[in-house]
Amino acid sequence: MLNLYHYINDLKNVNEKRVWSMLAEYVDDNNINDICTCSICLMDVAAITLNSIPAHYMCEENMVAAQEKISDTEIFEQLKKAMIVVEKTPHH
Ligand SMILES: [Zn+2]
Repeated sequence: MLNLYHYINDLKNVNEKRVWSMLAEYVDDNNINDICTCSICLMDVAAITLNSIPAHYMCEENMVAAQEKISDTEIFEQLKKAMIVVEKTPHH
């Protein structure tokens, strides 16, 4: 029988990578006092953002072509919204 689990790591949600790099850039560039930068809060921000934008799954080698479906600006808007949610209701 074909073991499909073998391919699990080859299928990527390209928008997930975009959210993480945008978040990393934001945290690096800004002296942020508005949100806690512990791993729990940053993962919450990423999770909320990812739940508010469409997933975009592709095979890894085709990832570049995917970046048109949602703009960086739209993702960043959702990221900012997620930060406000986490700031107001942190998980700790
Ligand atoms: Zn925190």
